[in-house]
Amino acid sequence: MSRIVLASSNPGKLKEFGAMLADSGLEVVPQTSLGIADAEETGLAFVENALLKARHAAQASGLPALADDSGLCVDHLDGAPGLYSARYSGGHGDAGANNAKLLRALDGVPTQQRSAFFICVLVLLRHADDPAPLIAEARWHGRILTEGRGSGGFGYNPVFLPEGYEHSVAEMDDALRNRLSHRGQALALLHERLRELHHP
Ligand code: IMP
Repeated sequence: MSRIVLASSNPGKLKEFGAMLADSGLEVVPQTSLGIADAEETGLAFVENALLKARHAAQASGLPALADDSGLCVDHLDGAPGLYSARYSGGHGDAGANNAKLLRALDGVPTQQRSAFFICVLVLLRHADDPAPLIAEARWHGRILTEGRGSGGFGYNPVFLPEGYEHSVAEMDDALRNRLSHRGQALALLHERLRELHHP
């Protein structure tokens, strides 16, 4: 497998995947460059949506496809924004409004009840009808700050303080963020699965 389609059109994710897959020997083609539109995310769990996205991209391109579905789950909010992380405040991908809504929802909630995690599920389909997709999931635990800090990356980065760190995700440099993040960890797991598959 050398050329694969990446089933995402989120520029923040494309940048992260590009950096993390740079030495993988895979040529990663974003679906947008092949004129493929986003799949409808009708699933009720991250893994369902990742499968839908990968299958859609594999079908439309005829190539193996890698998809991720990710989001932020806040314990105090019963897992919200969850599947709806990108459009929590209404409009799709309006990070400023999403963060503002989240901070309002947690207004007055004490530190120890502000726990949350980012989750990323990656699905690799070798072809559209692949009955045995490779699936990797990782979570990044931390808590929600009372105000945003920093400007790196995208989404909820400014309001998320990872466990064991003093800096918000938006205050971290790209290399550290890519190593620690739910997406970085899930990708490392997927690499391992691929290696096992080729060298059992
Ligand atoms: P998806 O494109 O459907 O997977 O939507 C994921 C959404 O979750 C993004 O638009 C962000 O709002 C949020 N999200 C996922 N991963 C991250 C991250 O690493 N940093 C900040 N926000 C994230």
